[in-house]
Amino acid sequence: MKQVLAIGGLDSSCGAGVIRDAATIQSLGKQPRVAVTAVTAQSATGVRDIHPVPSQTLDAQIVPAHAIKIGMLCDDVRVRTVCRALEKVSPCPIVLDPVLSASSGGRLLSDAGAGWLLTELIQKVTLITPNLQELSLLADWCGEPSQDPLKQADALRRAGALAVLIKDGHGTGRIAKDRLITDGEVHVFEAPRLGVSRRGTGCTLASAIACGLAEGRSLPNACEMGKSVVTAYLAEET
Ligand code: PLP
Repeated sequence: MKQVLAIGGLDSSCGAGVIRDAATIQSLGKQPRVAVTAVTAQSATGVRDIHPVPSQTLDAQIVPAHAIKIGMLCDDVRVRTVCRALEKVSPCPIVLDPVLSASSGGRLLSDAGAGWLLTELIQKVTLITPNLQELSLLADWCGEPSQDPLKQADALRRAGALAVLIKDGHGTGRIAKDRLITDGEVHVFEAPRLGVSRRGTGCTLASAIACGLAEGRSLPNACEMGKSVVTAYLAEET
């Protein structure tokens, strides 16, 4: 059975984080593994507390897998630990969901952590999956502010990202159009905007894409599969 490792935060309310990742990975017939970066106390309305996991413990949880999904990283110490630990696992597809804050607003990555993400980690991943807000903030931090998501994605590519999936979940319009930007190519994935919101959609999408890549699918094909998994996850709320 293919193994997919989810590196991220533990959300005590189970709406997002590694518990959501593991549920997605298992539902797609893969063996989940998790590496917890921080234990968080959360509810749908807020982040009450964050306890980072010691570097040594985080490092020890990072084991070889057929694909890796990375979510909440908490701070610069955890980002650097993950970067070092990735060197010891054999090369495999890596999907990075650049989690900056919870939908309730609580910060889940420090400024220093974002700095290391943009200078070190971004070069090690196969795909980064920002939502529109994360994309805009990351482009600002790259020193390339813009109002245009395509230009913002270019800034991330110049920072070393091989591919950027611009998630349109927080956008407007009847159709949600996610765009995958790779070397000179743009793939568009469309789904009806369901008008519902649910915690853990970013985790679900990135974990499903990692499962697709673990199966050997192409990046566009894995993103298409991820989009259908997240659409079904959202439809459960309607
Ligand atoms: N909490 C943890 C531990 C997460 O990993 C994430 C997202 O990856 C979130 C919260 C954010 O999820 P949401 O935007 O659904 O609140």
